Amino acid sequence: MPARQRPSLEIRAPDFTCRVVFSSRRTLCVTVRDDKVCVRAPLTTTEKNLEAFVRRQTPWILKTLARMRLKAKDRPSFVPEGTFFLLGRPVRVQGAAVGSVFLDLEQNLCLVPEELAENAQACERAVVGALKGFAVRFLGARLSETAARLRVTYSAFNLTDALGKWGSCSAKGKILLSWQLAFCPTDEIDYVICHELAHRAVPNHSKAFWEVVRRYCPEYEKARSRLKTRTIYRFAA
Ligand SMILES: [Zn+2]
Repeated sequence: MPARQRPSLEIRAPDFTCRVVFSSRRTLCVTVRDDKVCVRAPLTTTEKNLEAFVRRQTPWILKTLARMRLKAKDRPSFVPEGTFFLLGRPVRVQGAAVGSVFLDLEQNLCLVPEELAENAQACERAVVGALKGFAVRFLGARLSETAARLRVTYSAFNLTDALGKWGSCSAKGKILLSWQLAFCPTDEIDYVICHELAHRAVPNHSKAFWEVVRRYCPEYEKARSRLKTRTIYRFAA
């Protein structure tokens, strides 16, 4: 075996298994992703040192695994018997004799064609499509009403799939809003819209900017902190 290689190995802890990958790096590090724990280690690390490192990191690993499992449980489910939130209210997915996905807001139901029900990916794609259609209408209407109240204009509006942010406003006045705002209660939606439109009056995040936001969205701080705990998900494309 060449000197600069060492096969990976597994460490079994009581509550998780950890894969160890060796490389020419200098320090030990641990990551948790997709329910898997991985340690990256320098080639010369002894097993004793590895075990001690994993033992020291165990509280963090367990906390991170628990947090990620909780998030996975909250992930919107677009297959029959699954649930997701729409404007903050739980909606149940049901297979039905319909030609295309139908969002029944009065019954809090999302009806999907029975022939899609078997295929989770196709189902997810179809529901996401319907939700984007809902989002463009709902957010678009809210945006134009709010712009009138703030007495500002914008040049264009579009949905975004970006994973990192809920909204943005370009220097030219183009507003992008995450379609996944459709999952959120309306106070959170209104805060994001108000935030982006306030940038049409004040481009930065100065004190003057937050004063504009507060004037039109007095309770914005609560909505803002709840939004920070939410995840923007990646779905089947
Ligand atoms: Zn901003």
